[in-house]
Amino acid sequence: MSDSISQNLQQLKSEISDNVTLVAVSKTKPNQAIMEAYTTGHRIFGENKVQEMTQKWEELPRDIQWHMIGHLQTNKVKYIAPYVSLIHSLDRVKLANEIDRQGARYRRVIDCLIQIKIAKEEEKYGFDPKEALIFLEHLRTKPMENINIRGVMGMATFTHDSEQIKHEFSVLKSFFDQNKSAHNLEILSMGMSGDYPMALELGSNMIRVGSAIFGSRPAH
Ligand SMILES: *Cc1c(COP(=O)(O)O)cnc(C)c1O
Repeated sequence: MSDSISQNLQQLKSEISDNVTLVAVSKTKPNQAIMEAYTTGHRIFGENKVQEMTQKWEELPRDIQWHMIGHLQTNKVKYIAPYVSLIHSLDRVKLANEIDRQGARYRRVIDCLIQIKIAKEEEKYGFDPKEALIFLEHLRTKPMENINIRGVMGMATFTHDSEQIKHEFSVLKSFFDQNKSAHNLEILSMGMSGDYPMALELGSNMIRVGSAIFGSRPAH
């Protein structure tokens, strides 16, 4: 449906305030869908697979800002290091070392968010809050020159239990508030199509929205 992407985007933007950044999650969607959003002026897109994001980067306008939101294998960092705008899914120290190394190779400082595990589900990646703090403290004494930690990202459990989602988002918000001044954190990335209103209520300033803009994706 041709107009619906721009309409959905417009609707969503009317619901969020100016200090909130909208990442349009375009994973599995064709270039044509991205261009529909692009034509309305939108420039920030999120992808969760290295190969798919890199192909889209090659084919689409160069002023698009590409955000990596999915679990990132260490051996694939080199493909996105030349162009990625923000990595939301920095979830282990070994990955940080590789992003730093590839950043140096391409003479870039790569913006990253520390992914913190707030959900109960086993498959969700991320640092425990305690480990994240240890990592931040470590970086303060021994900075990585080609990484800039801009904030934190988290995903709530996939559930209809809104109290649980609220609790999980609150945990991330507290972590953010307690550490933002000491570690210069500015970005709190939380909220997707199903839970962004709750995330915004709880202080999110970056939401990652896919299906509410582009329509549902095939189940896998
Ligand atoms: C797919 C995905 C989203 C967007 O999900 P929707 O429910 O389609 O809005 C947000 N964040 C991450 C990490 C994702 O993988």
